[in-house]
This record gives sequence, structure tokens and C-alpha cells, in this order.
Amino acid sequence: MRILVTNDDGVFTEGLWTLVNELRNISQVTVVAPDREQSAVGTAVTLWRPLRIREMKPIAPEVATYAVEGTPSDSVILALGKLVKNRVDLVISGINQGLNLGDDVHISGTVGAALQGYLHGFPALAISTARGNGLHLDTAAKLTARLVKKIASDSLPKDIFLNVNVPNRPLDEIGMVQVTRLARESHINTVEESENGKSRYYWLVRQQLSKTKDRKTDVWAIEQGNISITPLSTELSSKSSSSGLGNLCPGLLQEL
Ligand code: MN
Repeated sequence: MRILVTNDDGVFTEGLWTLVNELRNISQVTVVAPDREQSAVGTAVTLWRPLRIREMKPIAPEVATYAVEGTPSDSVILALGKLVKNRVDLVISGINQGLNLGDDVHISGTVGAALQGYLHGFPALAISTARGNGLHLDTAAKLTARLVKKIASDSLPKDIFLNVNVPNRPLDEIGMVQVTRLARESHINTVEESENGKSRYYWLVRQQLSKTKDRKTDVWAIEQGNISITPLSTELSSKSSSSGLGNLCPGLLQEL
């Protein structure tokens, strides 16, 4: 198995290297990741300036490592288009230090990078863990290695990629593994206003994740101390609401 590893926290972060050190025991790993923090940039790609790639001294033995002056999606596009090309069997984004649940996947750079792998036709997954005291990154790393072995033997369905979230606790304290769907909850962003004497400025502040009663969702699974695996697809066109548009279109081309 040849694995491309990326993330949105930056190439130097502990989450990425905990994962790489676990994966390099069972696979050939290449790291191509942003050279700095790029959390919450979502699916952004850089089209308005050139991108630099810096080959780094391997941080782990035999792991070719590249730092990209761009977004997580840029990193995956450069990796698959130039650095590793088709010599990849799986794209993994993470381990993100912070959960990516519910509506938050739309702004997640971690999920954005996995999406880019999927759009290029590769099996892909995003892996995130909850922040907290005594970060158990090893739990998410070990789980990912087990997932990789399963994907190597069973393969993923072609029409999905995976969003995996792991509680911040030791592996033997995990409740269960749950296949979920995205909750319609997210961190609600609020605006805080400040002033430094000269000018006024604003912070977008994320609040506590809202609770859910829906047991099939990723938010619920994590609240129970379970691992959440959500299959994601790119089918954004809505089937359910199109019938409700029946009155919208007639007459649009005529003056009303
Ligand atoms: Mn991040």
C-alpha cells in the first residue's frame, strides 16, 4: 500500500507525524502538506499565484516529505499531479487536532484535502480527533492503520470517501465504531468586536458544539465516546427539494 498523507494543521504537527509513524510500519508513505497552519480553509485552491514546494529532510526514516506553500487541496493536487503522480493507493488527511463533525465539514481543510484525493479518483479518508488534555493521538493513528489494512483487502466503494472522528481517549476506552451521517449541528460562529485605539476589528468565534438527540449522527456518536465513520459523497444536487420548485420557473422568461 502506498499512502499520501497530508493535513491542514501544517507539515510540522504532531498529529501528522503520529499517524505517519504508525503507517510507515505497514505501507510506503509520502507526506505532502501545507508549510503552515491552514485549518478551516475548506476546499480552497490557489490559482492567483505560483506555488513553491520545499523537499524537507525526512522527519521519519524513508518518508519523502514535501512542504507546500499553499492549502491542503493545493498539496494534494501537487502531490497527485507532480510529486507522486499515480504511485498512490490511498490519500489520508490528518490526524487533525480538533473534530470535524456535522456542518463543519464544509469549512474543514482536513476534509477538503480528502475530497481532493477522492475527486482525483483515489480512495480517501479524513481523520480527526477531539482536542483535550493528554491528547491520545495514538488512538486515531492505530485506528487508521487498522482501517488501511481493511481498505487494502476490501477496498472502499468508488462513490464515497470517509470522514473519521475519534474521541480523545485511550483505544481500550472507546465505546464502539459507528457508521454515521453528518449532523445538522455545528459550531456556531459568532462575532466579537474589539478596538485597539486606532481601529476596530472583529473575530469570528466558534462556540461549543450543540447537542443532538439523533443517534445516527456523527455528533451523537462522539458524545457517546464512540468512533464515528461517515461516508461522504459529492452529490450536492438536491433531489428532495426540486419538486418544490415547480412554481418558480414558469413565467421567468416573460415579464410578470
Ligand atoms: Mn486543522
